[in-house]
Amino acid sequence: MKNIIFLAPPAAGKGTFSEYLVDNYGYTHLSTGDLLREEAEENEELKEFLKSGKLVDDKLIIDLVEKKLKKLAKTQPFVLDGVPRTLQQAQKLDIILNGLGFLNVVAVLIDVEKTTLVDRVVGRKVCPNCHKNYNTIIKEFQPRIDNVCDDCGATLITRSDDNLESFEVRYHEYEESVNPILAFYKAKGCLKVLYNNKVDQTEALKSLRSIVDEH
Ligand SMILES: [Zn+2]
Repeated sequence: MKNIIFLAPPAAGKGTFSEYLVDNYGYTHLSTGDLLREEAEENEELKEFLKSGKLVDDKLIIDLVEKKLKKLAKTQPFVLDGVPRTLQQAQKLDIILNGLGFLNVVAVLIDVEKTTLVDRVVGRKVCPNCHKNYNTIIKEFQPRIDNVCDDCGATLITRSDDNLESFEVRYHEYEESVNPILAFYKAKGCLKVLYNNKVDQTEALKSLRSIVDEH
């Protein structure tokens, strides 16, 4: 199976696809957010830094990823989510993966139109009680009664970073950095595109499976 590096704008579905690979193919999900939180458990300084909301240094993230990859068996497929965010990280990651003998790697761009992403983010509501997700804009995910969880009756809430301003900041960061990264993987011949613009993800999951199984 291919090792996968996901490249995607915010709300493109990285989390869902990663979960799918873990559940159906036994992938190990390496998310830089999780790696940072894990590391912060043992590192007070980092813990304080994360609380400040400042951006973590590129090198620290790559070091954490490297540390984790070193512990993985070569036969254990992984999905990487959160890096690379810069061309420099992509180059460094490439050297690390080659050095560790992970050769079967593809970068997968999850391609979604911006208007769809906005609908997903701005309409997102979550049940604070059972954590079920809803969307007030996308018909298929609306609760039966406005603002009330179908399953447990709790009042739905909006997460603090699910607003247009916060989305625009994250989207802008993505747009600013992604092109050189895409060019890098394209030149290496290992770039795939997964189109995930529809509500029904059957087609997208089919494409994902064909990427995973391709030799
Ligand atoms: Zn609920």
